[in-house]
Amino acid sequence: MSVGMMQDHPLIVSAVLDFAERWYPDVEIVSRTVEGDMHRYTYRDAAGRSRQLANALATLGIRKGDKVGTLAWNGFRHLECYYAIAGSGAVLHTVNPRLFPEQIVYIINHGEDKALFVDTTFLPLIESVRDQLGSVEHIIVMCDRANMPSTDLDGVLCYEELLAAESDHYVWPELDERAASALCYTSGTTGNPKGVLYSHRSMVLHAMAEVSPNSIGMCASDTALILVPQFHVFAWGTTFAALMGGTKIVYPGPHMDGDSISRLLNDEQCTVSLAVPTIWMMLMASLKASGDKLPHLNRVVIGGSACPEAMIRTFQDDYDVRVLHAWGMTETGPLGSMCHLEPKHGSLDDTDQMAIRCKQGKPVYGIDLRIVDESGAPLPHDGVAFGQLQVKGHWVTAGYYRAENDQSVSADGWFNTGDVATIDSDGYMQITDRTKDVIKSGGEWISSIDLENIAVGHADIAEAAVIAVPHPKWDERPLVIAVRKPGTTVSREDLLEHIGSAVARWQIPDDVVFVDELPHGATGKLNKLALREQYGDYRLPTV
Ligand code: ADP
Repeated sequence: MSVGMMQDHPLIVSAVLDFAERWYPDVEIVSRTVEGDMHRYTYRDAAGRSRQLANALATLGIRKGDKVGTLAWNGFRHLECYYAIAGSGAVLHTVNPRLFPEQIVYIINHGEDKALFVDTTFLPLIESVRDQLGSVEHIIVMCDRANMPSTDLDGVLCYEELLAAESDHYVWPELDERAASALCYTSGTTGNPKGVLYSHRSMVLHAMAEVSPNSIGMCASDTALILVPQFHVFAWGTTFAALMGGTKIVYPGPHMDGDSISRLLNDEQCTVSLAVPTIWMMLMASLKASGDKLPHLNRVVIGGSACPEAMIRTFQDDYDVRVLHAWGMTETGPLGSMCHLEPKHGSLDDTDQMAIRCKQGKPVYGIDLRIVDESGAPLPHDGVAFGQLQVKGHWVTAGYYRAENDQSVSADGWFNTGDVATIDSDGYMQITDRTKDVIKSGGEWISSIDLENIAVGHADIAEAAVIAVPHPKWDERPLVIAVRKPGTTVSREDLLEHIGSAVARWQIPDDVVFVDELPHGATGKLNKLALREQYGDYRLPTV
């Protein structure tokens, strides 16, 4: 072999921070703090403070490979933790504070976190479980002295005091790019949460994909409102992609209501934003009530659950905002696929274009997808055949962290996503369900996501979940559980007729239950497990 004569620098996250400081020093990071005020500083400030924090970690005795947890909202201190922890060779472990306390204890113990960085909001939570966290030696509260809450815990440290004691001179170690950089646990709707251990290389390559225009295209002319939590897959990787792209960042802190989001979007003139559909629903309700528009926003990335057509249309028709529908999961970095139209779609009518835009799109370069049947044989790309979605690529997990009997990756290296999907002849992938949510009726599969999207397309429906209910003849039949928009009176018959106008007869749900509210999991998705438990014995009128 003749070896290429190019330089070889490790792909490590500290190099992203160095780049941002050197080439975009004045780009702003704006955060609404837990206390409610606005904090502004620049990439230059963030880099200096991250180095101070790296020195502080060394002072605390944190060594390479040690896990350091965070329980925090989106904000500048959380960003500093990201770079200081991973950049110094320790492992950043972002813990989702919305999980049940038992799960949080499990995750911190399983990760063997040596220190925890905690927003004031979550200190009571940590106080209540402190005696169960054997590995944790230090707890650092992410605020200044004036905002330090009183606590009975021993040895709790104040973030700003910790930083103030340190110099901002620190040389980031030249780590092996394959070294572990971060740890995230999936919410695990069943069983214990499972850990994904990322490498520097996987995270840097993932971020490079996100600055490319075939995905988010985060760039220096953008201002990004990052609504996806930093405690869930690194705010979809944007904490690295933004600095790579020289993108101004806006963080909402804990202030995630529709009015606060709409104000931030307009006050900071955000051009791009990312969130799950539930968050956008709150924004839509707020905008409708206020009559405000979104003059600066040009695109939103929607993923985490299927984006309903009605949402794509509202963004497009009422606010002139393009929806980029994305798919991914904790195990895939998270970015797996994204939906962009191609020139040939320009001649399609609105209905046909919309059918494509509702799909989760094509993989970004670095990822490969396939669908397989129950025997593991690949299925055709015809838009009809559906099967288990499998994925491989530079930022896809090779197995769960410290897991026994891990069967998540096939012998030939494909990760089983647990999603069911189709891929059409143009290569556009569409998620039809999670394996455990699909409704198996008389040997045929009915997509719960399809029915939910159609249901929320009814003008009077705010949110809908469709679950399988046991049926003596058909095994399972669909039940809709829906929330009406305030002040509306849509009936069971109206809703079923609306759904019936869009699907085959045998797919029309057997019944509708109206409720005031649907349960959501720790990442804002519908909690269908809870619904299945609640409505498991539901007696359908067709029985
Ligand atoms: P959790 O499992 O903690 O909810 P993940 O973010 O890892 O968190 O969830 C990944 C799952 O979310 C995917 O496997 C898929 O089922 C679902 N998902 C993500 N994006 C989409 C999307 N655009 N459409 C439909 N489902 C999606």
